[in-house]
Amino acid sequence: MMAQIREVSAEVAMARLLMHQPASDDQKGQPEVEKITIKVGTGKDARHFEVHKDRLCARSEIFRDYLASKPSVTEIDRPDEDPYVFSLVIQYLYRGTLPDVIPLPPFIITVEQKTQLLNYLGRVRKSEYGKPFQRPARELWPEIAEAYAEKVGQPIDLLTIEMNVWGDWYNNLDELKPHFDRLYNNSVTFNGLNHPISNCAHNLRRRMFSFIDTLEEQAERDTNGSTFTRSMKKSTGPSEKEEEEDARSREGRHNLQRLICVSERYRLDSLTAICMDALTQLYKTHHLSPSAPSILYIYSQTSVGSKLRLYVSRSLAHAIMNKSPNDGGIGGVETDWIWDVMKENNELGMDVLAELRGKNGMKVAEAEDADPCEYHWHGEGDICTAKLY
Ligand SMILES: [Zn+2]
Repeated sequence: MMAQIREVSAEVAMARLLMHQPASDDQKGQPEVEKITIKVGTGKDARHFEVHKDRLCARSEIFRDYLASKPSVTEIDRPDEDPYVFSLVIQYLYRGTLPDVIPLPPFIITVEQKTQLLNYLGRVRKSEYGKPFQRPARELWPEIAEAYAEKVGQPIDLLTIEMNVWGDWYNNLDELKPHFDRLYNNSVTFNGLNHPISNCAHNLRRRMFSFIDTLEEQAERDTNGSTFTRSMKKSTGPSEKEEEEDARSREGRHNLQRLICVSERYRLDSLTAICMDALTQLYKTHHLSPSAPSILYIYSQTSVGSKLRLYVSRSLAHAIMNKSPNDGGIGGVETDWIWDVMKENNELGMDVLAELRGKNGMKVAEAEDADPCEYHWHGEGDICTAKLY
């Protein structure tokens, strides 16, 4: 079954437009955007991410300052980062929305397939039948932009598709096909069925479908029943299913925390903001609070002033006060372990005490009930980074 395709929001589409002002060498049709390779992890698990410099610098203060001071650098080594968590950061850079912290369908576009796909897309973009779609219609024909937007609700073009492939936006090869359907349908809607441009779109779709099918057949031959097959779905009974969902939700929370640690480290402020919003929401709806191991993990991965630390120490302060007899014994949260983790990590101890200071036995508000912006890296009155892409 085909996984549902995610729609590109209007803001992302706009950001893409802004990022890709028409290049001067239009005959080549290639975007003139500098890329940088980020090597993440070590050994056989290491991954190389090729990222457009402007995307990275627009989102991360740390990378921006670093690359401004070293403009000739084309490769950055981050052996201590986790390749999976870093792939979520890359996903965010290209999608502009909360990354899939719960890995949904197994990621089955291999590095080899990605390379082949990008080569093919690059060739197609320059071909006769690909040319009318090599960039967003609004950019190619600004004079019809308004009329186009009126008729076509969800524009799509080859550059956008190529960017999506770069950013690991598609979970599997099948997910590309609806975008070529849409490209064809948009052309028919705007130009009519027998228009030369619609003929190009038809041709383009046919060729892309057949290329994708060839890649899939190749993969099936190569793996022949090993890890990358699509028969990974197990039949599960309800209780097993519930357990599975529970484990997935735990995994999702854990991944979200790991992602926040990385986003704080590189000051990807808008990513931190949307992840913090998601995390507080998740804890609130499931009535959960951070566990001892995850608290110690968070403190080992972040530094003083971290928004995730603020959230954690508030949750603990709340749990402690909720247990207080002044509170009439509501909650009954077991808090002994909290004192233990506070003793184990001095910085945590200080943070929790800071949250408790001046409360004089008064109830501490739930960490989730604070203004969300308290967990974002922007000043009071500034534009909220959660709303920026
Ligand atoms: Zn905010």
